[in-house]
Amino acid sequence: METTSHSHGVEMVQGRCRICGDSTEILRLTEFNLKLCRHCFARFFERRVRRAMEKHAMAGEGDRVALAVSGGKDSTALLFALKRLSLVMGFELLALHFHLNMGEYSDLNLDAVIKQAGLAGVPLEVVRIGDLGLRVQRVKGWNACAVCGAIKRSLLNREARRMGATVVATAHTLEDVLLFTFKNLLSRKYYVPRPVLPASDHLARKVKPLVYTPERLNLAYCRLRDVPVFEAKCPQWTPRGHSLKEVFEHMEEVMPSGKLQLLLSFMDAFPAPGDESEGARRPCARCGEPTAQELCALCQLSDWFASRPPLREERPHGLEP
Ligand SMILES: [Zn+2]
Ligand SMILES: [Zn+2]
Repeated sequence: METTSHSHGVEMVQGRCRICGDSTEILRLTEFNLKLCRHCFARFFERRVRRAMEKHAMAGEGDRVALAVSGGKDSTALLFALKRLSLVMGFELLALHFHLNMGEYSDLNLDAVIKQAGLAGVPLEVVRIGDLGLRVQRVKGWNACAVCGAIKRSLLNREARRMGATVVATAHTLEDVLLFTFKNLLSRKYYVPRPVLPASDHLARKVKPLVYTPERLNLAYCRLRDVPVFEAKCPQWTPRGHSLKEVFEHMEEVMPSGKLQLLLSFMDAFPAPGDESEGARRPCARCGEPTAQELCALCQLSDWFASRPPLREERPHGLEP
């Protein structure tokens, strides 16, 4: 009979670690049919990330990798794992955070990220979207999350170039990629995001080192390494758009490792398109960033915000309890 305990907020059981053989508190990894102690789990996690990076030639000797960090469990786990891997794989690691101009929430978020980067020993660049005349709120047909995503995507390219990064890393997880693919399939688009997008159009190579890693492993890695995670919910967060993820969790319960197998099947079934950028690109008429339209998304958004003062109820974003 196994006794469950909570160590560092992670559910552990008493047992024998499959790798080092110690009888101690262990973490059950049903996805991989493994039971590991705290120390062996950290090595296991880092090896998984390293294998994904090597398999897809994401980064290596001499690369300058800019990692987008939000302070949440996924990018925090990746920050600390990549720091260790940078030493053995020979790349340089930089962190990039966007202050999203959502009042106290964004200020506390920034404080948390500064602390994490300090603990990890990784140089941090901060970009405040408010300085660029941008806000996260509904715009025309776009909801706030879509606006936020577009801002972050564009700025990530721009800032990575400014920082001289050869590689841009994001913390998209197995669930993120699966969800995106599944939503595409529901509208008969047969497309799976790839672990690597090659450099093009003055854009650095984009990589997703956590593409094969389930989210719960990221949280366990942070907890078991005693890394603080920023857990306050974004003031713009809504359950819509996240509920589909539960479908995969049910599947995983019935079939351990089902999520990973499903993603691998999708990747086999739908070959990568030749060009993943949205149509032909040309320089934005104002800022020169590559875009498919006259003005890039950032320039369009800053025009839109400049013509409208912030709505009162959209102004102070207090923290949710
Ligand atoms: Zn062990
Ligand atoms: Zn522009």
